Order: sequence, then C-alpha cells, then structure tokens
Amino acid sequence: MSRTLYWLGNDLRLDDNAALLAAAQSETLLICYCIEPRWFSQYRYHTASLGPHRWQFIKQSLADLQKSLRQYDQGIVFVIGAPQDALPALVEAQAIDRIVRSYSVGVDEQRSLAAVRERCPRLEVIECDTQTLFDRELLAGPASPLPSLSSFSKFRKLAERQKIALPLSAPAQLPPPPANLARESLQQPIPDLSGYESTPCPYTGGETAAREHLQAYFAGQHASTYKLTRNALDGHSLSSKFSPWLSNGSLSVRRALAEIKQYEGQHGANDSTYWLYIEMLWREFFQWLAADVGTALFAAKGINRCAGTRCFYPERFEKWCQGTTPYPIVNACMQQLRQTGFLSNRGRQIAASCLVNELDMDWRYGAAWFEHQLVDFDVASNWGNWQYIAGVGVDPRGGRHFNLSKQAELFDQDGAYVERWSPGPVLENLDTRDAADWPLG
Ligand SMILES: Cc1cc2nc3c(=O)[nH]c(=O)nc-3n(C[C@H](O)[C@H](O)[C@H](O)COP(=O)(O)OP(=O)(O)OC[C@H]3O[C@@H](n4cnc5c(N)ncnc54)[C@H](O)[C@@H]3O)c2cc1C
Repeated sequence: MSRTLYWLGNDLRLDDNAALLAAAQSETLLICYCIEPRWFSQYRYHTASLGPHRWQFIKQSLADLQKSLRQYDQGIVFVIGAPQDALPALVEAQAIDRIVRSYSVGVDEQRSLAAVRERCPRLEVIECDTQTLFDRELLAGPASPLPSLSSFSKFRKLAERQKIALPLSAPAQLPPPPANLARESLQQPIPDLSGYESTPCPYTGGETAAREHLQAYFAGQHASTYKLTRNALDGHSLSSKFSPWLSNGSLSVRRALAEIKQYEGQHGANDSTYWLYIEMLWREFFQWLAADVGTALFAAKGINRCAGTRCFYPERFEKWCQGTTPYPIVNACMQQLRQTGFLSNRGRQIAASCLVNELDMDWRYGAAWFEHQLVDFDVASNWGNWQYIAGVGVDPRGGRHFNLSKQAELFDQDGAYVERWSPGPVLENLDTRDAADWPLG
C-alpha cells in the first residue's frame, strides 16, 4: 500500500472517475488542487488565460467537490504556485510515494507533470483517462481510430464502431488523509488570486449542478429535436449546454453518453438523439487530435502548415472583443460572450469567421480571447475549432468564411438576438488606417 497524492485537474467529480478510484487504492490519500498564478496574468496574446466566468465556475465546482468529499472524511488541499514548485514540497512533507492524475491533452499540463516527475524521480506517477469516451489503451490497439485523424468523417466512421466503456460508480469509501496533515488544511476556503468580481454567468459549477442539468435536459423532449434546434444563436434548451461541466470534468462524457442512450431507450432514438452523440464525437476528435499534434495546435500555420494571415491590428481587435465592430450580428455574439461566458456554436463560428476574414487578423488572438472568456473553455475544442475556421486545421475543405448578412437573415430573422445583446447604433465603417504590427513573432 502507498501514500498517494491525487492531483485534481479537469476531473472535478466523484462519478465515473477512474483517477479517483485508482487513488483510492492506497493507505493514505491527499487530494490536492494547484492554483497557478500564471492563469491570471496576461500572456502573449494580451489576455490572461483564465477569465472571470470560468474561474467562478471552477471555484463553484471545487466547493461542491469539497462538500461531497466530507462524507468520506476527506477534503481538498489547495496549493498556490507552479505545480513543479508547489507539489514537490507537499510530496516531501507528507512522504508521498505515488501521484495520480487524469491524463490531459494540454501541452502545459503535460509539461507541468513532466517537471514534477523530474523533481521527484522516485515518485510513481499514474495517469488515468477520465476526460474522453475512449482510453489511450484502446487507441494504441489495432482497432484504433487514431490513424484517421486527418478528417472528422474518417475518425467518425472508425469511432462509431468502437465499444465505449460504461461509466464507473463513485468510490464506496476513500482512504484517510495523511496522519500528520492538519485537519484544518482540508477545510480551507479556496484561495482567490484573481481579483475578479462575480459574474452573471448563467451556469453553476459542480457535479451537483451538472447532475441536475442532465436530469432537467432529459426530463423534457429537447434531445428529440436537438438536430433541428442546435444551430440557434440563443435559447437554453436548444442545444444541450453540457459543455461547461464537461470542460472541467464535473460531468463525465461517458455519463452524458449513457444518459443519451437511456433517453433513447425510453423515448426512442431518432436523428436528433443520434446527432447529439455525433457532436460528442467531434469533442472526442479534437481531444485526440490535440494529443497527437502537441504544440502545432497553437502554431500560426496550424496543423496543416498553411499560410494564414499573421497580422495584429490593435484597434480592430479591441472592437471585436468589445462587440463594437460594423457587424451587428458579430457585436451581439461578442457581447453575449463577454457578459455571460457562453456563446452558441453558431455564434462562435460567426465571430471567429469575422476576425479571420473581415478583420484579417491572426486567428490565435481570437482563440486566446475565447480561452479567456469561455466558461466551457477546452484547449482541444477551442484551438482545434479555431484552426478549422482559419483554414489551417485538418479540414479537407480549408477554412470557413461566413457571409455575415446571410447568417443574420438565417439565424436572427426578427433581429431579436441583436436587440437583446447589442442594441444601439453600429459603426458605419471599419477604420482600416489602424497600424498593423506585422509580422508577429
Ligand atoms: C471557434 C470555436 C471555439 C470553440 N471552443 C470550444 C471550447 O473551448 N470548449 C468547448 O467545449 N467547445 C468549443 N467549441 C465547440 C462548440 O461550440 C461547443 O462545444 C458548443 O457550442 C457547446 O454548447 P452545447 O454544450 O450546448 O453543445 P451541443 O450542441 O449540445 O453539443 C453537445 C456536446 O458536443 C460537443 N461539441 C459540440 N460541437 C462541438 C465542436 N464543434 N467541437 C467540439 N465539441 C463539440 C460539446 O462537448 C458539447 O457540449 C468551439 C467552437 C468554435 C467554432
């Protein structure tokens, strides 16, 4: 038996959590969440990676998990700093010999884990799959859909033939925390370095809220009409809204899929319920693509090494972020995003296409702004979708240029969406005299 440190990441739940179950095979268990100051400071694209909406959502998720862990006489220890600095001290102080973590496709997360490994070479490190439908083990086998990552349709064909494991139950019990750990350190409030104020984000973080959301969604008939409604710009039940909880793992993607299957069993399967599953395969596709391509996910030329624009126009960027461009539909999208942290898939496509095609800007600034704003930010889905729109990703069709007037006609016929999120006058012209910083490093 060992003394285990379970390092929480995007797996803030008890349900269907292979990492927690692995960590529970231990004599003592220290559950820890590392808050990194760099999340809140500006980085190369002029924004901090973690903005107020998602941070609020993460704090709510942690508080909910903290509460659930009390029934196991357990709790979360919060540490502040880069993991490679903060965790080794804990490992030494508590004589930890095993660390358990969920596998993350994020390059930063992988680097942090490698750095912890380097600092603590005697530590056993176990990485479990908790964020995807498929496990890495399956992907390494002969039936792996990995070789098909050159296009979604190829991936989908192979992925649809794979058996997906059923969700696991929450642990019946957990080992105690290390004896010399002060009990108070398990009840500490969540440290907040952000300086952010609370936001009117419509989603509440945590496994409890995720479960309630899932129940409410499937209690109605929304899944049976999903395919017809999913492209709407606004509307709570017109798409599933699973993404905020999926993004920090307070909802398991396998649990969400199991619920779709259960709904189909009760109400019948149709095109819409099937399409919801297909959208979850899109998520899966981007996860494995990100794992496969590493830093190319963030490269200006993208995975396909295409030449996209690399200009940055400070004024245009500011107008896009603030929702004061000459395009009402884009302004409404950007206002909704800024105010709530959420934007529909259609809205994300419209806003991204505008940045790349109308404003002629380096797509990575847009991706970084979304990273900061989105409550459901997911590194693989965000940067992967941006590459798609910018035409530098694995897309046989090469880029997407949305006709903004046509989009408004199709998806905001009565102008209600623009009226709700961005009423008021619109700039007539885009000032193209603003200086471009070019080329970008
Ligand atoms: C530029 C851009 C950036 C995006 N950034 C993110 C992001 O950071 N995080 C994120 O979760 N999604 C992202 N998406 C994908 C998609 O917009 C959201 O997943 C979706 O809008 C979330 O709402 P929903 O849960 O109601 O989706 P639904 O339509 O109900 O779909 C169900 C689930 O399928 C998955 N899904 C659906 N569409 C996609 C897609 N295109 N790519 C990957 N997964 C998908 C999501 O997990 C979603 O929760 C982005 C899309 C674009 C165009």
